[in-house]
Amino acid sequence: SPLFPALTEALADPDGPGAHRPALRFGDRSLTYGELAAVAAPLAGRLAGAGRIAVWATPTLETAVAVVAALLAGVPAVPLNPKSGESELGHIVSDSAPTLVLAEAGDQLPSALGELGRVDIDVRAAGAPQVPEDLTPVPDVPEEPAPESPALIVYTSGTTGPPKGAVIPRRAIAATLDALADAWAWTGDDVLVHGLPLFHVHGLILGILGPLRRGGSVRHLGRFETAGVARELTEGATMLFGVPTMYHRIAEALPDDPALAKSLGKARLLVSGSAALPVHDHERIAAATGRRVIERYGMTETLMNTSVRADGEPRAGTVGVPLPGVELRLTEDDGVTAVEAYDGETVGEIQVRGPNLFTEYLNRPDATVEAFTEGGWFRTGDMAVRDPDGYVRIVGRKATDLIKSGGYKIGAGEIENALLEHPGVREAAVTGEPDADLGERIVAWIVPDSDLSPPSAEELADHVARRLAPHKRPRTVRYLDALPRNDMGKIMKRALPHD
Ligand code: ATP
Ligand code: MG
Repeated sequence: SPLFPALTEALADPDGPGAHRPALRFGDRSLTYGELAAVAAPLAGRLAGAGRIAVWATPTLETAVAVVAALLAGVPAVPLNPKSGESELGHIVSDSAPTLVLAEAGDQLPSALGELGRVDIDVRAAGAPQVPEDLTPVPDVPEEPAPESPALIVYTSGTTGPPKGAVIPRRAIAATLDALADAWAWTGDDVLVHGLPLFHVHGLILGILGPLRRGGSVRHLGRFETAGVARELTEGATMLFGVPTMYHRIAEALPDDPALAKSLGKARLLVSGSAALPVHDHERIAAATGRRVIERYGMTETLMNTSVRADGEPRAGTVGVPLPGVELRLTEDDGVTAVEAYDGETVGEIQVRGPNLFTEYLNRPDATVEAFTEGGWFRTGDMAVRDPDGYVRIVGRKATDLIKSGGYKIGAGEIENALLEHPGVREAAVTGEPDADLGERIVAWIVPDSDLSPPSAEELADHVARRLAPHKRPRTVRYLDALPRNDMGKIMKRALPHD
């Protein structure tokens, strides 16, 4: 069955009622399903047989059209982050070996892409999509590709090491979007507000392909701004997808912006993902709007693993329960012994299995083999506990967030949450450093609130000890002007100075 039924229908019946429904809007430019079909199908015809293509993934209508065309053609697409440096782009291009790059007409491309053939995409004003002149329109879209065929190659965020290319089949995209639709009661009547970049799973697969699979629509803000969120939610949008840095900005803006609070109160769903949503921001938004943000947890390799149902109860500090069709277990250090406890305390590594999983890391057979354990379970590298009712609480990443101190295994996340509740702390990251006595010592990296005098190390240690437990207090506090973050707002702990 087709990946995008509404688009296939608009192709078959360009004058039917479905063809006039809105699909994509970026700023003041938009396409209906009929217009999207009219511009993407000829492009798909041209791409068929192209091998692999790269997409210069600016936050534009052109990027969405390029990816849809590649998916119609069954040609694997590699979305490129336009903000990557030359060396990262060079790595991704030589690793994925695309034959063509699709970019908005007029965009200047860096020299790392210089060798590739280029296809310009030019979608002009609303209602007047322009088919690039050098494309020969084809009468038919290629047949629906096989479910296991690679649809996208998405590079991981590079938080714990160099980015790896995850080969994502059509089957995984369909499975994850349908599981989210089931959990969130997501339908073709939903209108999504979107302010994320388009080269990762969150912004591209959930944010663009999600609405298209449902036959609904998406309004992209170009750049995230709280005023844009308020405007779109007031003008009929039903859901907001964001990363924690966006919800942090919303939480900060709410006390002085009653219109924003009112608009968020109207939304059907406020969803956060890509990193942990600090409890403090979750609670502030709930207090000001009466709405609780739903978290969802996923990754490039597995797409979405957990969330909370639309009629369920979001709980601060948790990512909900496994999505329909996803199996999830926690394992001990050996990677195969399952942790049975639902006690909110016993930490294990999250492993998942299901139709949402990727096929392999491109050109990395060893890494692929290593990523799975017996029985086809994927090791996420994320550590978690489970509450008695099955809600998963991520305590951090095995590589960077699990601190072994004084015989305890301590997750960085809960200490970060506690630090963020201190009024003098604007941002916080916690790491472990070697310590002669303790094995590892808890180190807090703090961005103080500029309006107040910075809290002392002693005060912060007391604050954490009172809230959590004495052994979880930071022994060292380092003050920074900003934390190193990537374009999704994830804290890059490996880029902290002297870490
Ligand atoms: P790399 O694998 O290259 O080190 P990365 O893991 O950051 O980078 P992504 O696949 O983009 O690359 O991110 C997935 C990770 O993001 C998850 O493994 C998890 O650590 C984190 N994550 C995603 N959603 C959540 C969430 N709701 N709460 C906490 N962490 C989350
Ligand atoms: Mg990862």
